[in-house]
Amino acid sequence: MKKILNYINGELVPPVKGKRLDNYNPSTGEVYSTLPDSDEEDVHSAVEAAKAAFPNWSALRKEERSALLMKISGLLEKRLEEFALAETIDNGKPLWLSRSVDIPRAVSNINFFATGALHYASEAHDMDGKAINYTLRSPIGIAGCISPWNLPLYLFTWKVAPALAMGNCVVAKPSEVTPMTAFMLSELCMEAGLPKGVLNIVHGLGGKAGTAIVTHPDIKAISFTGGTKTGAAIAATAAPMFKKISLELGGKNPVIIFGDCNWDEMMRTTINSSFTNQGEICLCGSRILVEKHSYDRFKNEFSEKTKKLKVGPPADETSKLGAIVSKQHYEKILSYIELAKHEGGKILCGGNAIKMGGKYGGGWYLEPTVIEGLPYNCRTNTEEIFGPVVTIMPFDTEEEALKIANGTEYGLTSMLWTENLTRAHKMAAQLRSGIVWINCWLLRDLRTPFGGVKNSGVGREGGWEAMRFFTEPKNVCIKL
Ligand code: NAD
Repeated sequence: MKKILNYINGELVPPVKGKRLDNYNPSTGEVYSTLPDSDEEDVHSAVEAAKAAFPNWSALRKEERSALLMKISGLLEKRLEEFALAETIDNGKPLWLSRSVDIPRAVSNINFFATGALHYASEAHDMDGKAINYTLRSPIGIAGCISPWNLPLYLFTWKVAPALAMGNCVVAKPSEVTPMTAFMLSELCMEAGLPKGVLNIVHGLGGKAGTAIVTHPDIKAISFTGGTKTGAAIAATAAPMFKKISLELGGKNPVIIFGDCNWDEMMRTTINSSFTNQGEICLCGSRILVEKHSYDRFKNEFSEKTKKLKVGPPADETSKLGAIVSKQHYEKILSYIELAKHEGGKILCGGNAIKMGGKYGGGWYLEPTVIEGLPYNCRTNTEEIFGPVVTIMPFDTEEEALKIANGTEYGLTSMLWTENLTRAHKMAAQLRSGIVWINCWLLRDLRTPFGGVKNSGVGREGGWEAMRFFTEPKNVCIKL
C-alpha cells in the first residue's frame, strides 16, 4: 500500500508524530493508500524550511524561477498518463476526464504563471511633471495554499504556481480526500531540482494541518479554495492577524435558457455543465431556468438524455460519470435528494444510488438526477449539493429569470443561453456572479479574473489578479 509522505525542505518525510490517515479509492470504496495526519509541528518545520529558502528564491532572476517551474511542468506533461490514472483512482472521476482536463490543465497552470511572471510589469503615475510615482512589487514571503478534492492537481497548481513564480515560498496542503497527485508532484519537484524549502507540501486534515497553516504567524497570505463554511472560519482567523486572503468558495449556479438559443448546442453543453465530474465542479450549473414556452420540450429532451448517461467504473472509457469522491459526500448528496422529495420536488429521472458488480461493489455511485416542481427559494434550490443533481424551473420574463438566478447567497458563475445579443449583454450586467458564460460553459482563458461574489468568495485568481495577490505593492514617490 502506497504511503504518502510530506514534502518538507526538499525531502519526503513522515509526519513528526507518525500518525496516518486512510486514503480511499471511491470506485471500490476500499483504502488503497495512507497519508500523513500532520499537525502544527509538521507545519512548523515546513514554515522554517520556507523561511530559510525565501532569501535565495526571491532573489533569483525571474528567468531562473521560470525555467525551474517549466522543468516541473515538462516532467508532468511527460508523465501525464501516470498522473491521470492516479487522479482517477484518488477522486473517482472518469479517466478520460483526468487525461483531457485535469492533468493538462495543471501543466497549463504552471506554464501560464511561469511565463506570465516574465511579462509582469507594475504601474507608474506621473503627477503632471511635479513628481513620479512608481509601484514596486515584491513577493509577500511565505504563502499558504489550501485546495479541495474536486479538481485536485488542477486547483493545487492554480495557487502554487503563481505564488512561486512571483518569488514566494509556499506551504501547501491538498485535500486529505485526494492527496495523491500533490504527493507525486513533490517527487517531480525533487527531480526538477527545485531548491529545498521553496515548496513544502504538508498532508492532513483541514481542522489540524489546515488550521496550523492559517494560524501560523509567519504565513502572510492564505489562498484557499473550498467550502463556504470553511472559508468563513479561515477569514475569521486570518483577519485579526492581518493576513491577505483569497477565498474561492461554493456555488449554486443558474443556467438561464431562452427558447431562441441554439438548441442542440445548449442541450449538449447543459448536459455537460450539469454532470461533468459527477457534478462536483464549483462551476457546474445546478439550477436550470427555462423560458416557459420551451419548458416541456427542454424537460423531456433533457431527462431523456440524462437517463442515457452511463455511470460506471472511472477507468472504463465509456463511463460518462464515475464515482462520488467519498462515502460522506455520497451520503450528503443522497440526503439532498430526500430533502428535495420532502420539499415537494418531482424526480424526473435518477434519484438513486447504483450498486456496481464485482470489485466495484463497494464504490459510491449515483444516478444523474433531474428534479422539477420546487420553489426557487427552497433549501434544495439555495444550498450547494455539489453532485449530479439539478433542478429545473420555468420562468416568464427576463426580470423573473434574474430574480431566481440572483436568489441565492452564492454568486460564482451564471450561464445564459440566447441568440438575442441585447438581452445577453443586459442580463450579463445584472447577474450577480463573478463569471457569466453566454452560450458556453467552462471556456477558460487563464488571463481572466476568476472568482465569485457574495458567499462564493473574496478576491480573484487568474492572470494578473493572482500575481498581484501574491505580491506586496509599494508606492515610491519622487518629487522632481
Ligand atoms: P472543504 O472546505 O471541506 O476543504 C477544502 C480544503 O480546506 C481541504 O484541503 C481541507 O482539508 C481544508 N480545510 C478544511 N477545514 C479547514 C480549516 N478549518 N482550516 C484550514 N483548512 C481547512 O471543501 P471540499 O469539500 O474539499 O471542497 C468542496 C467545496 O469547494 C465546494 O463547496 C466547492 O464549491 C468548493 N470549490 C470552490 C471552487 C472555486 O473556485 N470557487 C473550486 C472548487 C471547489
